[in-house]
Amino acid sequence: MKDLATTTQLVHAGERRDAPVGVPVSTPIYPSATYTYVSMAEMDKVFSGDAPDYIYSRYGNPTVAALQEALATVENGSFACAYASGMAALHAALFACELSLNSVVLASRDLYGASFDLLTKIFGAFGVKMQTADFSDLDALRQKALEVKPRVLLAETISNPLLKVCDIAACAEIAREVGARLIVDNTFATPYLCHPLDLGADFSVHSATKYLGGHADATGGIVIAKEEFDRPALVGVMKLVGGVLSVWEAHQILRGIKTLGLRLERQCQNAKTLAGHFSTHPQIKKVLYPGFSDKANLIKQVLRPPHAGALVTIILKDDTREAAFRFVDALKLCIRATSLGDIFTLVSHSATSSHRELSPKKRADLGISDGLVRISVGIEDIEDIIADIEQALSA
Ligand code: PLP
Repeated sequence: MKDLATTTQLVHAGERRDAPVGVPVSTPIYPSATYTYVSMAEMDKVFSGDAPDYIYSRYGNPTVAALQEALATVENGSFACAYASGMAALHAALFACELSLNSVVLASRDLYGASFDLLTKIFGAFGVKMQTADFSDLDALRQKALEVKPRVLLAETISNPLLKVCDIAACAEIAREVGARLIVDNTFATPYLCHPLDLGADFSVHSATKYLGGHADATGGIVIAKEEFDRPALVGVMKLVGGVLSVWEAHQILRGIKTLGLRLERQCQNAKTLAGHFSTHPQIKKVLYPGFSDKANLIKQVLRPPHAGALVTIILKDDTREAAFRFVDALKLCIRATSLGDIFTLVSHSATSSHRELSPKKRADLGISDGLVRISVGIEDIEDIIADIEQALSA
């Protein structure tokens, strides 16, 4: 290296050092896009799959692999595959279900809006059909499944913004009965509160942008698969569609999940206190919170007891868009923002954000009125959160 020109030294000096003998306590960030080997023979072995190792960033990355391994472990999957966003992850899970012309996906009717659009606009363009059902009415769901013979059932552990908890085990039974696969979007519940694969799902999907990252500073998604045989499809989407998780985001999310349990303990407790406090408030018509559901046994079976999630939805007594805007605009601590699952308390108005694309009639059919506001409860002191909401309600 000493004999080379300064320009060349600047490019190569210090690079490609041996890995340290000591094992790093936390996973390093490996931004390298490509890997070299001692010889072409070694490289040939790796490329042919005879020696497991890294080749190129779109095929796999050690930092991303650490996150994948962690989440597969926590949710008892055979393996996990990470992507650039929650939507990319859901796309991969749907692809793994081998959808083709006239395949039917039977989706929960209060699914996240972009998930509907993914089914109708992207998969729909290839002839995949979407049908919807109320997944909280199991008899109707079974009837519909028998009728439309879906290839996939697509559910969310906790629905948005009505916060209904899905009976995943019952949905898995229906899926088996009709020969369908079950995908559960577990974003709202997190791997701390729910393990969908243990309840019979084939795939658990997360927007890691939410609770997993937890700090509103990373975008990512992950699919955890129950069966090893789904690996080629999920890895294939990663390699060939190419929506891979960036190594920097993987590091943020890997760091995020280390405090997921601590954050969720606090956030769930805060949500419970908040829901209880506002349940009899004169300005509030209704508080939606899974802990108030009459299906206590189901909540216990799906979510880690004694928790009921960290989201609370309120419907204002003056159930209008003007009242909702006035309330949200008056907040001083809680943040007006879409998204959820962050350490900050985030407040969103569903009718003009996540469900904006729906017609007023469709929103009304779903029970999403103009005075409905969703609160993703953060880790702040609960007294401060309550005081802020109180002052905004009287504004
Ligand atoms: N699933 C749910 C339940 C969501 O709320 C979201 C985003 O809000 C997504 C998936 C999509 O995640 P991302 O924004 O990371 O693509």
